[in-house]
Amino acid sequence: MYRHSNKADLHHLPVSRKLFAREVGRRFGDALPCDRDVLLSFADVGPECANPVLGVGCGTPVISVDIHVHRVTGRWGYVKASTPEKTLAALETTLRQRYWIDINRLLVPFGKHVCTGNRPRCSTCPVLDMCQQIGVTDHR
Ligand code: SF4
Repeated sequence: MYRHSNKADLHHLPVSRKLFAREVGRRFGDALPCDRDVLLSFADVGPECANPVLGVGCGTPVISVDIHVHRVTGRWGYVKASTPEKTLAALETTLRQRYWIDINRLLVPFGKHVCTGNRPRCSTCPVLDMCQQIGVTDHR
């Protein structure tokens, strides 16, 4: 399956994924290859890169889990998993499918600027009262 792409589709992707998407465009023209196996055939492309293209670019319901999504959902106590791959599997069983595409776009900036790797900004966090703060030993 292929999907006609436009710049708006790619606007929300991080820079590295934009470069990947441009390479896809270079090889396939304006048609995104909405096929997981085709996307994974690109050099250095794994699920972390292919899934946002499938989700944002193709509208395929897939969850993209990077270190931010893994960390934030773990601290919330929403999932308990030791790796991003295991977090992805856990989210596929617990998260409503309507949120699968958006979770990455929402939690990556949240993880970069609020729920940071070191000393998260818990004192001003908008979801503090809903968070179990799993593993948080020091915060701002
Ligand atoms: S309360 Fe702290 S640990 Fe929980 S989501 Fe907010 S910043 Fe992260």
